[in-house]
Amino acid sequence: MSIDRTKIRWNGWGWAAHRDTLSSREDIWTWLAAELGMPSLLATPARALDDIPLSPPRLDADARARLVEMLGPDRVRDDAYERAFHALGQSYHDLLRLRAGDLALAPDAVLYPRGTDEVLALLAFCAERDIAVVPYGGGTSVVGGVNATPGAFRSVVTLDLSGMDRLIDIDTAARTATAEAGIYGPVLETGLAAKGMTLGHFPQSFEFSTLGGWIAHRGAGQNSSRYGRAQDWLVSAKLATPKGLLDTNGFPGSSAGPQLNDIVLGSEGAFGIVTEATVRLHPQPSAHDYRGYLFRDFATGAAAIRTAVQDELSATMLRLSDSEETRFYRAYGAVGKKKGLKEMFAQAILDTRGFDAKACALIAGFEGDTATVETSRKHFAAIARRFGALPLGRSQGERWREGRFHGPYSRDPMMGRGLGVDTLETATRWPNVDALYTAVRTALDAAMRETAPRPGAHGVVLAHISHSYSDGASLYFTYIFPRSLDDDVAQWRKIKSAASDAIAAHGGTISHHHGVGEDHLPWIAQEKGPLGIEVLRAIKSSLDPKGILNPGKLIPR
Ligand SMILES: Cc1cc2nc3c(=O)[nH]c(=O)nc-3n(C[C@H](O)[C@H](O)[C@H](O)COP(=O)(O)OP(=O)(O)OC[C@H]3O[C@@H](n4cnc5c(N)ncnc54)[C@H](O)[C@@H]3O)c2cc1C
Repeated sequence: MSIDRTKIRWNGWGWAAHRDTLSSREDIWTWLAAELGMPSLLATPARALDDIPLSPPRLDADARARLVEMLGPDRVRDDAYERAFHALGQSYHDLLRLRAGDLALAPDAVLYPRGTDEVLALLAFCAERDIAVVPYGGGTSVVGGVNATPGAFRSVVTLDLSGMDRLIDIDTAARTATAEAGIYGPVLETGLAAKGMTLGHFPQSFEFSTLGGWIAHRGAGQNSSRYGRAQDWLVSAKLATPKGLLDTNGFPGSSAGPQLNDIVLGSEGAFGIVTEATVRLHPQPSAHDYRGYLFRDFATGAAAIRTAVQDELSATMLRLSDSEETRFYRAYGAVGKKKGLKEMFAQAILDTRGFDAKACALIAGFEGDTATVETSRKHFAAIARRFGALPLGRSQGERWREGRFHGPYSRDPMMGRGLGVDTLETATRWPNVDALYTAVRTALDAAMRETAPRPGAHGVVLAHISHSYSDGASLYFTYIFPRSLDDDVAQWRKIKSAASDAIAAHGGTISHHHGVGEDHLPWIAQEKGPLGIEVLRAIKSSLDPKGILNPGKLIPR
């Protein structure tokens, strides 16, 4: 295994050794309390694993012995750490339960296969013995995708793919690579970089997520405008199912009927287990340019992005924060700092140019060879100018690029201070972006006020356009709120439902890149329609007739 899993936190984000510089910043907590209408924040520490009782594994002794025969004792694990680590994923809802010591969904055992044949044998065995199987890559699902839910079965095992992390082949002529599905992002990219190549799939969870997870939830990296999302770069996959191996046999192009890759992409472990995949590559970019712009308001910034995308400008990322996200991060960055001459001068420029509280920051990123980067950057700068934007220079963009994977580390300290912090995302066509944005923001704001722990307390909603297409864009919301400690799971459910209802009612998809899992299940039937759900059920029952794979995810019963 190339990544040492014991060094990753079981009930929070990232490396256990990561230095937490936030918890001791009392000035930040005081500022945040005021932002949320609270007199002060609370201390809500997570429970230690040693203090949490775990129910005994339900796997019968004979089944366990057979699994040990198949894999060896080291690859059949049912110690407390392994069961806790694999109980849930990384959603706010998951972390609420993990931190509170709710390990009701701990799997009965965690299995570490090595290779497609072992996965096939394990699936056949589990189907024969009526044991539910939850596929697990990096476990960064934020929709309940890896929850070890047994469904109708007595016992459940988690099948952890991290032991299958070989980069099998790089074909530089075809610009493709084949790798095992459990390979982590950094391991894959390091291997590709040695040949001057990149996949370019960089979700914010990049360091702790795997190739199989990216495919299985149909993900989109932050740079998908240039490198594509999973459906663009997947050439073919091997899907191990209880009925045998489905090899999707990809071609550069094919009109031989519907493409089987579409059964694999977004299947969330409910149809089978991706064991290997072949993916399209790009040369490592020799140049990059990330810089900031300030637009007068959200609609103007969105119009600039739409123009750029419809002009087929080669951008790697165009990310537009709304005015609240722009204000919040600016204020956060200023906590504890004295306002110097430089800041006062910058503010005076904004004032004289008519930028007020509605102003929205945009990061424009370009990668490739020097000439392409320069041409595209200039093209976007001209569009931005046409829309009255103020260029903010490279430092804004570089700061974002350097800190792009650090943000999630602030969630655990916030949860330790009685705060809730969650994200959700959607997408819609351009003419509807503004209406959907307003509807979701309004729903989140109202639900956070309604469930606040005291009168006057409220949340903050931060939003940005994260990915854009010629026909529309995705909207990504982060919401921070004081927790209602009486029942913080019920509070989360109310807020999540209000936002999801607003998405469904206002023409958005229930997920642009997080997937369905358990959390989005109540809204999927409306999005797919009755016949769509029937088709998904038919695929599931032909590949997994007993329904052992990832019960309770993706497809409503
Ligand atoms: C802080 C944070 C930031 C994130 N940012 C992004 C982002 O920018 N873009 C994005 O797309 N997502 C993002 N996500 C969501 C999540 O990281 C992605 O879902 C990720 O790609 C999942 O990969 P994983 O290996 O962790 O999969 P897991 O979480 O282990 O699994 C995800 C789903 O796929 C299934 N699965 C996993 N491996 C396999 C396999 N080999 N075969 C079949 N099924 C499998 C699981 O059963 C589950 O249903 C983010 C999550 C977090 C916590």
